[in-house]
Amino acid sequence: MLSVEEARERVLARFHPLEAEQAPLTEALGRVLAEDALARESSPPFTNSAMDGYALRSADTRAASEQAPVRLRLVGEVAAGSVYADEAQPGEAIRILTGAPLPAGADAALQQELTEVADGWVTIRQPVAPGTNVRHAGEDVRPGALLARAGVELGPAEIALLASLGVSPVRVRRRPRVAILATGDELVAPGEPLKPGQIYNSNSPYLIAAVARAGATPVALGAAPDRADALREKLAQAQGHDLILTSGGVSVGDYDLVKQMLGEQGEMEFWRVRIRPGKPLAFGFLGETPLLGLPGNPVSAAVTFELFGRPAIRRMLGAARVERPSITVTLAGEEQRRADRRQFVRVRLASDDGQLVAHTTGAQDSHLISSLQGATALLIVPEGEGVIRPGEKAQALLLNDALPWLE
Ligand code: AMP
Ligand code: MG
Repeated sequence: MLSVEEARERVLARFHPLEAEQAPLTEALGRVLAEDALARESSPPFTNSAMDGYALRSADTRAASEQAPVRLRLVGEVAAGSVYADEAQPGEAIRILTGAPLPAGADAALQQELTEVADGWVTIRQPVAPGTNVRHAGEDVRPGALLARAGVELGPAEIALLASLGVSPVRVRRRPRVAILATGDELVAPGEPLKPGQIYNSNSPYLIAAVARAGATPVALGAAPDRADALREKLAQAQGHDLILTSGGVSVGDYDLVKQMLGEQGEMEFWRVRIRPGKPLAFGFLGETPLLGLPGNPVSAAVTFELFGRPAIRRMLGAARVERPSITVTLAGEEQRRADRRQFVRVRLASDDGQLVAHTTGAQDSHLISSLQGATALLIVPEGEGVIRPGEKAQALLLNDALPWLE
């Protein structure tokens, strides 16, 4: 049986970044950049005012005071979106609005609250330092600056930065198309009535959601009954996708057909990993198409997707990081017994006096879908003997890249 690392290496070795394509910037949320994005211009593109007030030459105000105010002649106005045609001359002030280009000759803008204006004159009762309320061209970004690296997943902040430099469309990786197929005679789609002995197919909805969240396009193929001919037909439809995810039918039960299919129509790379939950995990190829055969138990399917399927998708996306971040947490609640398989315990992280504390989400059996809910991390219980006691430190994989809400 393979260790988690060996299995992960063998899976990841078979995936590579997909080709690049163009996407309009406003549709690029969550897409992964295929190349570095560089600034061709400056931002801000021109020096402008940070305030509504009066543009002036600071030297004119050097001697201004309460006792001896300086009066500047109001000669014009410049609003955002327009340009003042002349140069500011000594003794002149120009009405300026926030974001408007600073007129040539002016080197400061005094906010209107600090001025008095009457009869075409602006009265100033204090010296104004050069640069006051001035936003300089290129202060945010200089030409040639790296805006975002290849492999970065675009979020609202990156999108805003690229937009401020006029970048659109962007070169991103094509989203992988991931076929999702459940197996089992007992499965019924949610929304349909259940007959005795049947259960709802929850793995397909889980995987459709998790695949989309990982940045790929899910292609739902429903459920195949436990018959070789039916499964063969469904798998024929799945071929040609970037990845096939099946669930169920990979353990040693009588109806475990996925392995048989891999044997018949492709090659099997491995089918068991020293992991709990999720030992019966198969990986192989149907023709050219990689197939991850996830276990049927819903929690096992979810955890093995997280540990093997998501990194494969992130690799195809060219993401700089394919793994979840690993952090040190302090165990709370019950002790965790180590065993010969590495365990991934669903936990909720809370912040307690400067420490991240991990509480399990309850009973951890692999059929308890409720144990997935509310989990913000997977606590890693390494192989071995003995226990991890409450208060002791352990590693955990964050299920979201951001830290959890503090409670
Ligand atoms: P299997 O690996 O096919 O033997 O399935 C193991 C367990 O997972 C059984 O209890 C199945 O009923 C259950 N199971 C398999 N597939 C699904 C599914 N798509 N949704 C919910 N439970 C499933
Ligand atoms: Mg089954």
